[in-house]
Amino acid sequence: MATIGINIATGSLQQPEMIVGIDLGTTNSLVAVIHPDSKKPVVLKEHDGNALVPSILHIDDAGNITVGDKARELLVTDPSRTIFSVKRLMGKSYNDIRNASHYFSYKIIDDNTDSLVKVQAGDRFYSPVELSSYILKELRNRAEHILKTPVTRAVITVPAYFNDAQRQATRDAGKLAGLDVLRIVNEPTAASLAYGLGLAGKNDQTPPQRIAVYDLGGGTFDISVLYIANGIFEVLSTNGDTFLGGDDADRLLAGHWKESFGISDEELQQNKSLSQELRLLAETAKKQLSTQDTFTGTIAGETVSITKTEFEKLIKPLVDRTIACCENALRDAGLTASDIDEVVMVGGSTRIPYVKQAVSQCFGRPVHDELNPDEVVALGAAIQADILAGNNKDLLLLDITPLSLGIETMGRLMEVLVPRNSKIPSRAGRQYTTQKDGQTSMRIAVYQGERDLVKDNRKLAEFNLTGIPAMPAGLPKVEISFLINADGILVVKAKELRSGVEQSIEVKPQYGLTDAEVEQILMDSIQHAKADMQTRAIVEAQTEGRQMIETTSRFMERHHDFLQESEKLSTKQALDELKNKIEVADKDAIHAAIEKLNEISKPYAERLMDTAIAEALKGKKI
Ligand code: AMP
Repeated sequence: MATIGINIATGSLQQPEMIVGIDLGTTNSLVAVIHPDSKKPVVLKEHDGNALVPSILHIDDAGNITVGDKARELLVTDPSRTIFSVKRLMGKSYNDIRNASHYFSYKIIDDNTDSLVKVQAGDRFYSPVELSSYILKELRNRAEHILKTPVTRAVITVPAYFNDAQRQATRDAGKLAGLDVLRIVNEPTAASLAYGLGLAGKNDQTPPQRIAVYDLGGGTFDISVLYIANGIFEVLSTNGDTFLGGDDADRLLAGHWKESFGISDEELQQNKSLSQELRLLAETAKKQLSTQDTFTGTIAGETVSITKTEFEKLIKPLVDRTIACCENALRDAGLTASDIDEVVMVGGSTRIPYVKQAVSQCFGRPVHDELNPDEVVALGAAIQADILAGNNKDLLLLDITPLSLGIETMGRLMEVLVPRNSKIPSRAGRQYTTQKDGQTSMRIAVYQGERDLVKDNRKLAEFNLTGIPAMPAGLPKVEISFLINADGILVVKAKELRSGVEQSIEVKPQYGLTDAEVEQILMDSIQHAKADMQTRAIVEAQTEGRQMIETTSRFMERHHDFLQESEKLSTKQALDELKNKIEVADKDAIHAAIEKLNEISKPYAERLMDTAIAEALKGKKI
């Protein structure tokens, strides 16, 4: 494969396969790759040395879109057309964000419905997916510009608490930006990967680890507790506050100075530039106090100052709130602080020494702060991208199954063995038996999908387990097991446990399925969920009814002489009735007919049982 040599801030970069890792943040976004020489992840920086792209867009009258630093400059002068915090809107309806709508200075369409929100800029409307796609496009352009090669594949991170709709929206945004999104990764997982946590080799025997990831950004706070075993990351709990971050510290400090100056709220309301200047000065002071003990500056000709101790006293209530969230997350995970093996710090606000101390004290251990807290998520995403590119064969492929996997059972129903979103590698098994006396083979059909009837799902494979010794129906024990290995290959095995005969087959569930098709399958299952459930209930009733007809008919044949004429007649009538109800597919009527047949057959079945016992006691067999 051809390689391209280029220069970035970190040196010469040559890479045959460009899969980038993207941290699509609420405030800032970044893109990172694995450096081909050092094999270490690096964030991509433009010549100005800045890796952060503000997640802000400006849309002008003609619909031209600017993203990043230039858009941020327009936040104060053109607030109604400058869109920030799009991430807060992803996968949300207006009803979801109604309480927070005052936070957005731009117009969000409030049609009071559960349909997804739209943002209005001028006379145009934009979906959050579309807006996020412009940010992703900017990151893609930046990557292509720096790497001097096309970038079409990416891993994108999302908060651990994002639901399916929000993850899907992020995937769609990637697609709109011309990116094939290979995986959506949880931000705390990426941050842990950046610190090398969970990067066990396939055969590594490292004991499981419990990790707390504390993420304090500009406007949001998240704490996640992860459990890592054999390279698989599991989110045990998440907690946080979607409106708590470093910006609140700026506001507190600005408020403190405002009071000491005697500036009124009205004055600040009218003098927007003074208000903005005060907030910016507060942020500068806050940052400086991360490395120095005092800050002195000037505003409107006045000198202002603050010491680190005073600042810490001011922000203590904010930090205490984050610690309370950590305690809740621990409780939800069923753990105590001493169970946590590692603590990872993420987000610009974790540079504040007081925050580090408080977190370290809460968990009773030093925190990981060696990496740049703004970059750690993007760096982890690049590591994940590298694993997916196959450049790191020693590592486990961390993945989940996008769709359920199962087999066809009686009545052409889908029986799920591995539900969708199961972790890979994964194993599942269940026992089945034969339906007919003397049955020596069993057909096993493997399907993928979310619908109740196999005809609506995707058939992956079919094979016959032959050589089952002839036995009465229900006696053979056939165990069907599904094993999905770390490469995503599914091995289906069928084994008759009494005789030991077995057969297996290998399938690639993902093969030939595009992301769009997977999505369509999921959408279909949601749309048809109610109808499918009803159909499944009918089919199950029909199957039960047919089995009942078969056993009763067999009984009648065998014990013809034992039954009275009236019993034969009433049984035949009940059988006909049941056949008829199965034909018309009326679930409740089928159940009623089964019940009736049971009532009729119960007396003679019991009589037969008594006779059999009596005969057996005489030492005879019937
Ligand atoms: P993020 O959302 O992770 O990009 O974090 C942005 C927040 O980190 C903003 O509130 C910044 O003011 C804050 N921040 C950045 N650098 C520092 C620093 N050196 N000390 C304190 N806070 C910082």
